Amino acid sequence: MASHFGFVAIIGRPNVGKSTLMNHLIGQKISITSRKPQTTRNRILGVETEGEYQAAYVDTPGLHRKEEKAINHLMNRAAQSALSDVDVVLFVVDPFMWNDDDEMAFARVRQAAASGVPAVLIINKLDQLADKDKLLPLMEKLSSRLEFKAVIPVSALKAVNLKEVRKVIFENLPEGEHMYSDDSVTDRSERFLASEIIREKLMRQMGDELPYAATVEIEEFRREEKLLRIAAKILVEKQGQKKMVIGAGGQRIRKIGTEARLDMEKLFESKVFLQLFVKVKAGWSDDERALKSLGYDDFEL
Ligand code: GDP
Ligand code: MG
Repeated sequence: MASHFGFVAIIGRPNVGKSTLMNHLIGQKISITSRKPQTTRNRILGVETEGEYQAAYVDTPGLHRKEEKAINHLMNRAAQSALSDVDVVLFVVDPFMWNDDDEMAFARVRQAAASGVPAVLIINKLDQLADKDKLLPLMEKLSSRLEFKAVIPVSALKAVNLKEVRKVIFENLPEGEHMYSDDSVTDRSERFLASEIIREKLMRQMGDELPYAATVEIEEFRREEKLLRIAAKILVEKQGQKKMVIGAGGQRIRKIGTEARLDMEKLFESKVFLQLFVKVKAGWSDDERALKSLGYDDFEL
């Protein structure tokens, strides 16, 4: 049998569950998730191989309309570039809300579909919907505006109906050599994954006082005989934020460190020794150049 390979873009408004969907499709948590809308900042590739089929999922930062700050602008460019040259588009929505950001994401999906890319509609968070009849109007409304290859209600979180999603994707992958080794789950380095795990814990631990104001740099990443030694710097914008990240008596930073270490030990299958530092670096989220040097990229596939 011929081998199949393709890129699958996951598109949708922030917070609909794109990263959760990708993680559960590939069976590893490589893309961080949280209740905060702009959790995913970078394009992340997740690879799934099943026999002759290999799908490379592209998890995108959610598109959003406000571009006031440099970081928003870069994130939108990252989300858009993911749509050029993909083989399948997954359009993710939830049944609870439809707003301008959904509309904007849908416009991009329609654009891709118009140039021949098969589009699949995924209605996520099924587990939160008591009355499943409520799905029908949404399905009809969207299907009347675009002919989808399939419409699949799922729960990404509880892994409900993901088999169906996989099936449609595999059916639509073109013939071609696998681009990644059959045991790889991402194109990202372990260093990058480590920094993302810390950023996730930071976002989950902090309230709204930390929207974009923090980033993480890995200073050391070293495999030793019995453990993986990781040192990371958390960069914040203001002295006050540094205090908040550290918390009273260092309580918060310890919690962030412990949770990050546990996730890392699972992902890297190794004992981890993790050190965290917090540093103030003023004004970086408004400076595109500084952002690029910190790795907020917008490269093409
Ligand atoms: P993204 O911004 O589209 O990547 O969304 P995330 O994957 O980060 O998910 C946003 C939030 O929705 C997180 O708190 C997830 O745990 C939650 N979520 C994602 N999928 C589901 C689902 O199927 N059911 C429920 N109940 N929550 C979900
Ligand atoms: Mg995400």
